[in-house]
Amino acid sequence: MTTHADSLKTTTPTLAQLTTIGVGGAVGRFIEPQSEEEFIAAVRDADAAGSPLLVIGGGSNLLIADEPFHGVVVRDKRQGISVLDDDAHAGANASVVAIVAQAGVNWDDFVDFCVVSGFSGVEGLSGVPGSVGASVVQNIGAYGQEVASTVSSVRIFDRESGSIRQLDRDDMRFGYRSSALKSSMYSAPAVPSGDYFPTPRYVVLSVTFALRRNGTDEVAFGQLAKALGVAVGERMPIADIRRAVLKVRAAKGMLEDPGRYLLPLMRGCKNFHIVADALSANSLASREQPANMNDEAGSQPNLNRHSCGSFFMNPILTKAQAEKLPPDAPRFDATLPDGEPGVKTSAAWLIDHAGFHKGYKVRPDAKAGLSTLHTLALTNRGGAKASDVAELARAIQNGVEAKFGIRLVPEPVVVGMDLR
Ligand SMILES: Cc1cc2nc3c(=O)[nH]c(=O)nc-3n(C[C@H](O)[C@H](O)[C@H](O)COP(=O)(O)OP(=O)(O)OC[C@H]3O[C@@H](n4cnc5c(N)ncnc54)[C@H](O)[C@@H]3O)c2cc1C
Repeated sequence: MTTHADSLKTTTPTLAQLTTIGVGGAVGRFIEPQSEEEFIAAVRDADAAGSPLLVIGGGSNLLIADEPFHGVVVRDKRQGISVLDDDAHAGANASVVAIVAQAGVNWDDFVDFCVVSGFSGVEGLSGVPGSVGASVVQNIGAYGQEVASTVSSVRIFDRESGSIRQLDRDDMRFGYRSSALKSSMYSAPAVPSGDYFPTPRYVVLSVTFALRRNGTDEVAFGQLAKALGVAVGERMPIADIRRAVLKVRAAKGMLEDPGRYLLPLMRGCKNFHIVADALSANSLASREQPANMNDEAGSQPNLNRHSCGSFFMNPILTKAQAEKLPPDAPRFDATLPDGEPGVKTSAAWLIDHAGFHKGYKVRPDAKAGLSTLHTLALTNRGGAKASDVAELARAIQNGVEAKFGIRLVPEPVVVGMDLR
């Protein structure tokens, strides 16, 4: 019998082509729904058939094994953003605007739309790769902002009950790189739950954001304030903040390679004008780094961008665990999963102080290595397999654990490999 999803089937790519780190095996079936009904039908059909299901966005937070993924990969192609009627949604607070973005919308396109429209609250998250749908799964954060602080509700398809529901911000149980959606995939850190992995129980259909319409925002992060030449807490036009964030991220290799959007497979996944701007900024940046041209990253600067971003979460420790850290280890107030006060330390600091410096590889000829610009990014140096990235990740986990007694937990969703 031909299902609704069959009619939407397109050519089958590999996961290496669908992910920013560029590793991963063949895909069983690949479906690109163009409407909410088609999206839900694709999810329902996969679940009804008992097929493993991967709802994928930009593939920027996924590390997937080299073996074929014998299941269905669904990528929402919708790119709709709408500003809701002011009177109905702003209520007494006319300075707030409600915006709905469909799950498939490219996250940075959404930020660009908000900044151009003068809506503040997400500009610090400029340049984070991926989709609006996934942004709420791991509660993306950068430069003093987290998506959680601007989300008012999330429209989801509940795979368990088969119903469409609205989750309010409290229902989302946002935390540091976590949410109720992400929790539905795990029974313990890095341990997949049987039922819902690698896609959460709740599939995001669209997100409603509440942003301010003042066109300026506070600069909430020291490094950003420095780039802008202002003090932390000072207000700046959000367009300036976005430009500075993109520049700081480019200097750390923490933007994705815009060249991927030139692939036929990626067409329509991101606003062409923003891709063109990113391509020209990228080639300008490589021309501006002649001093590095003798090293691997200098001659091929995009290698540092073939990653999942930060690979390990910053550990949140009990106070007793934190006391065992060296005195100079970073310490920030945080909340433990059980709600008790804890201490967050820096994964990058632990990695570096365990002897894994920028550019580290397990062997000189290894095809995966730490970014030469950022200690937390595990990168594909060209031709790496998922197993190469996993080998590097384990070496770092083991080294950090041996030195500090802390087991680092991967931030990306790791499929088909065990990196606990
Ligand atoms: C260079 C680089 C820099 C980065 N910088 C940051 C950063 O500063 N801060 C940060 O927080 N993250 C960062 N990341 C990580 C990544 O960009 C985010 O986690 C992003 O939200 C992932 O989005 P995606 O669409 O690519 O998700 P994918 O990788 O495609 O999927 C990740 C997970 O989300 C699920 N998912 C995707 N769409 C949906 C949906 N519609 N409904 C339910 N589940 C869904 C998938 O099933 C999967 O479990 C970075 C990554 C890279 C490569």
